[in-house]
Amino acid sequence: MMADGSKFADRLLNLLNITTRADLLLLDEICWARRLLIKDANLDGAEARLVIAKGQGIITVSTAIHDHRRRRFSISHELGHFEMHRGVGGVIGCTTDDIRQERETQTVQTLEREANEFASAFLLPERFIAPLCKSRMPSLDHVAEIAESFSTSLIATALRYIKFCDEPVAIVFSKSQHIQWFQESVEFNEIRDDLGFFFDVHARIDVECLAHKLFQDPAFPSRSKKVPASAWFINGKFKNDATIQEFSIPMPNYNSVLTLIWIDDVIDDDEIEYDD
Ligand SMILES: [Zn+2]
Repeated sequence: MMADGSKFADRLLNLLNITTRADLLLLDEICWARRLLIKDANLDGAEARLVIAKGQGIITVSTAIHDHRRRRFSISHELGHFEMHRGVGGVIGCTTDDIRQERETQTVQTLEREANEFASAFLLPERFIAPLCKSRMPSLDHVAEIAESFSTSLIATALRYIKFCDEPVAIVFSKSQHIQWFQESVEFNEIRDDLGFFFDVHARIDVECLAHKLFQDPAFPSRSKKVPASAWFINGKFKNDATIQEFSIPMPNYNSVLTLIWIDDVIDDDEIEYDD
């Protein structure tokens, strides 16, 4: 039986009576209120570890994590294990990562996914961010502002953003000039289903993509560009001259680029004109 990470997160937010964004920044105190102590230590291979005994626990965070936002995600991930998987008992060691990775067994995969889902929903609660995701035109700058104010990573925030944005938007993560994965909003999925196009996961980034330029030169001055739909989408019944809006941010330390695609115009092939 799968635990619903976001339900557990909501329940805990209610229990702790967290009503403002500022409350969320007090993560150490939140853990303390749950009888969880946080300490830092040199962990071999793992990013964080949780030890549970008699309803209390210790979260150990690797001193190798220097990024404050990543540390918060790791702590929340362990908090999620504590809230949901206490029964599993013993020691849980995690290479928590909001960038996907392969895991050994199905059970471990499930537990890790649940803990990640908890962490995202706890650090970026629907009640606070849903209104922010709907209030403005989509852009990665907007996502970065949300990430900044909630002290969360850009990727974790972007994935939460597309859950609540009511525009057709998708997040694409590319590494070493190849598409690694994508996730889309409900509206995006509807258009994609309708027109039958898809992202060519594992394929090389098209030269017309802004992301391609950012791989060549991370200092490239632009972060947004209107590009042909065919630069990102393959197959599908979109018109030849269809364009979409691309926002990309280079992550040179990971040899990666994070992209937000926004279908900001009618792209389908039908000749039908709509008047309103
Ligand atoms: Zn874990």
